[in-house]
Amino acid sequence: DTILEVKHLKKYFNTPKGLLHAVDDVNFTLERGKTLGIVGESGCGKSTTGRSILRLIEPTSGEVIFDGEDVCKKNKNELRLLRRDMQLIFQDPYASLDPRKTVSEIIAEPLKLQKLITDPKARMDRVRELMQVVGLADRLINTYPHELDGGRRQRIGIARALAMKPKLIVCDEPVSALDVSIQAQILNLMQDLQEQMGLTYIFITHDLSVVNHFADDIAVMYLGQLIEKAPSEQLFDKP
Ligand code: ADP
Ligand code: ADP
Repeated sequence: DTILEVKHLKKYFNTPKGLLHAVDDVNFTLERGKTLGIVGESGCGKSTTGRSILRLIEPTSGEVIFDGEDVCKKNKNELRLLRRDMQLIFQDPYASLDPRKTVSEIIAEPLKLQKLITDPKARMDRVRELMQVVGLADRLINTYPHELDGGRRQRIGIARALAMKPKLIVCDEPVSALDVSIQAQILNLMQDLQEQMGLTYIFITHDLSVVNHFADDIAVMYLGQLIEKAPSEQLFDKP
């Protein structure tokens, strides 16, 4: 069962030096419940691919068929509804978490914006539940992200992404800013969540060792193109 099909995806940027082919005809499919690792060196187009799939940036051309529907053809309102099903987890939760908001306000935000849970008390119950799911102690509910360490901040980012019960999560270097011991904790959490909730992941990283046990398939990007895609065992069996 295919959840995502990316066809001829292109994203060009106008830069002072001319047109930059950041993503240049990327094609792949992803099965439901699986993890696709996208690896490659910095600047090869991984983030731009991930963001184009969610249409956080407008692709130049191509098709992104998610659950049978072309994401690129959606209007603003349809896109808002679609965002319930597709979420992004950022590299640096510190940069993406509003420093003026408490943990509970951050996690509750998508629920509020999407008008999914309008009753404030019911919303708090859901926030508490999400905190428990990602292993954040209840006592942290009124703290601010800058008071917490990187691992806990990433747990907030994950809780916020899970709030809408998404089907697909694009994880853009989700552990790259973390200490190695914390990386393992977050990766284990993400794997547990995948099993519990049947999530599908796109896992973007410059660090092959991070996805090596996690991803079912690994796609290698180079200069805006996906130059190889193979089951991860196969890629690691190579001499
Ligand atoms: P990666 O995630 O693999 O590090 P990116 O997708 O972030 O690569 O970037 C791919 C290329 O596109 C890089 O050369 C980057 O500088 C460029 N780029 C990314 N976003 C923009 C933008 N908004 N405007 C211009 N160039 C961009
Ligand atoms: P990240 O990949 O974690 O978002 P970046 O530094 O690559 O971090 O990008 C930060 C923001 O700047 C993104 O919105 C990206 O699209 C944009 N960006 C990246 N490279 C360029 C560039 N060469 N020119 C303009 N904007 C860029």
